[in-house]
Amino acid sequence: MSLLSVRSLRKAFAETPVIADVSFDVGEGQAFALVGPSGCGKTTTLRLIAGFERPDAGHVRLRGQDITALPPEQRGVGFVFQDYALFPHLTVEANVAFGLRRLPRRPRQERVLEVLSLVGLAGLWSRHPHELSGGQMQRVALARALAPQPHVVLLDEPFNSLDAGLRETTRQDVRTLLHRAGTTSMLVTHDQEEALGFADVLGVMQGGRLEQIGTPSEVYARPRTAFVAQFLGRANVLAGRAEGTSAITAVGTVQLDGQAWGEVQLALRPESVELVRGGDWTLSGREYRGHHLILRLHRDEQRLTVRAEAPCPFVEGDLVRPVPRGRAVPLEDGCDGTPNRCSPTMPSPQAHDPARSMAGSGAPTRCGRR
Ligand code: ADP
Ligand code: MG
Repeated sequence: MSLLSVRSLRKAFAETPVIADVSFDVGEGQAFALVGPSGCGKTTTLRLIAGFERPDAGHVRLRGQDITALPPEQRGVGFVFQDYALFPHLTVEANVAFGLRRLPRRPRQERVLEVLSLVGLAGLWSRHPHELSGGQMQRVALARALAPQPHVVLLDEPFNSLDAGLRETTRQDVRTLLHRAGTTSMLVTHDQEEALGFADVLGVMQGGRLEQIGTPSEVYARPRTAFVAQFLGRANVLAGRAEGTSAITAVGTVQLDGQAWGEVQLALRPESVELVRGGDWTLSGREYRGHHLILRLHRDEQRLTVRAEAPCPFVEGDLVRPVPRGRAVPLEDGCDGTPNRCSPTMPSPQAHDPARSMAGSGAPTRCGRR
């Protein structure tokens, strides 16, 4: 049974819908990440779960109990805010003890020491927030959220104000700590790498809706929509004509992950394309990334992103031919809502000529995996 269950949640501000029919489950001990661009409704979703906002419709259940109408302090939900929200005038110890005010002094002190040890800050109990580094403040905020032993901890972009290196180690530390404590958690972030690295299960959100839920590897390997494919790691979205297990595209015949027929949109990862010299694509951008490079190609209006291992013999201006090596994933975008049926005039952002000539043919076609 899921520990946290969110069903058909809706919320509008001044009649503008912000959360539209969001449902998901988080299992006991699981780390769930909600990832999406800024403004898509992540914080609002967390605030609805924590009880800082009331939904217009839908339910939140925690351990089977409907908590939709409960005040925040009765929900058993811990919250780590984006800016930590530590009390500047209180010591680390007093900050962590804040949620334990109802406990007698002795057990309260013991619990504070226990969680401070868990986050590796037992020696710093008497410091004030301004005497701590960003990473240490983040761990105090986590300790404060964990101290009352909540059933679930909600983390709202908790690593945003840390610099790149510290961000990654703090994220790994927090993940390890949550797993060690057996705490169920829900992280929201706009950072796809953070979501992929943190989550056991992730949900990709856009415009107040969850577009896809799955394990990081499932969602990365089999994105359902162009948005998910492009948001979660780079992807080329290509139009193509599918004939079962392969499709003809601007980069030639591509093998498909699954089967599709007719006019389709496909996601092809940059690492699934190799380059050979000669051809009619121009290498127009080359970004060095250490152990690999990101190459940008164009042919007329068409664009393609390719990942190449370093060292890479190609330089800007070279004429190249992209050769698909991995499989492309048929996307559901452009479908008319019926599974495996495509609208004949679906938008194709990187449409190539064969697909354009197919558009408007009116022939019923099928897309999507089977
Ligand atoms: P995210 O956390 O994904 O960046 P938010 O949940 O904070 O997004 O916001 C989603 C949308 O709802 C935004 O357009 C934001 O401006 C709007 N919004 C959030 N809170 C309020 C509020 N209290 N009143 C009016 N609009 C709000
Ligand atoms: Mg937010």
